[in-house]
Amino acid sequence: MRICRFDDNKLGVVEGDEIVDVTPALESLPQHSWPYPRYDVLIAHLSDLRPRIEQLAKGGPRLKVADVKLLSPVADPGKIIAAPVNYKLHLDESRADAGIHFGSKVKTIEECGVFLKSNSSLVGASEGVVSERRDRRTDHEIELGLVIGKRGKNISEADALDYVAGYTIALDMTIRGPEERSLRKSRDTFSVLGPWLVTADEFGDPANVDFELKIAGASKQKANTRDLIFDCRKLIAYASEAYTLEPGDVIMTGTPEGVAPVEPGDVMDCWIDRIGRMQVAVRAA
Ligand code: MN
Repeated sequence: MRICRFDDNKLGVVEGDEIVDVTPALESLPQHSWPYPRYDVLIAHLSDLRPRIEQLAKGGPRLKVADVKLLSPVADPGKIIAAPVNYKLHLDESRADAGIHFGSKVKTIEECGVFLKSNSSLVGASEGVVSERRDRRTDHEIELGLVIGKRGKNISEADALDYVAGYTIALDMTIRGPEERSLRKSRDTFSVLGPWLVTADEFGDPANVDFELKIAGASKQKANTRDLIFDCRKLIAYASEAYTLEPGDVIMTGTPEGVAPVEPGDVMDCWIDRIGRMQVAVRAA
């Protein structure tokens, strides 16, 4: 199943180039009072809601995907975890290009582990990316994004994929420079998720997935998740050793070679096999 959040926080099921509005399914979500949960309530209850969603999808109002505003399919992730330099060829290009490494030694993922991006940086496909720092290089990083479906700590690699609710396209937008990753990659609009969530049962194994990012028809990044240094299983196990993972937590699995600057006016044409295409525009402040 392909689940999206669109327009004014409506819930949709994507079928081909159409969305079926299944928003009434949200009425079954539990009501919380303060303090609110530190996880995404919809993702936490997705399997309970699924029969109702499937029932509504048979007869709900239909819209064209092209006519709606696509928001991040996860509304309230407790945390956005990201993997630095997780493809060998991206490690090589980062070490070779001063425009990427900015004079600092590029450590391997084994040395530096994972990092966090701010929740406030999160947007959906239709919201676009704002490039404000015209004095700096702002790069695209396309990544397979996975969304955690249930709470877990010290998860084994063998069990890791049982904790995944689904997969999305992720953009880990990045300003190059000497500051911490958590600053350079957490500016407003610098975490894009979408265009929808493909549930894990439909997506299948994330170990061999083609993906590509183009700008103006030119291929910039083209790779396959089989070349990940820490694959999805290992990233979940590694992150859950440090953090309790909660429903809705996002893991951006790392970007391959080909990172390059974007300019206002560019449209990042992103594609991941089994998910589809996501177009994200870059605009000036
Ligand atoms: Mn990245």
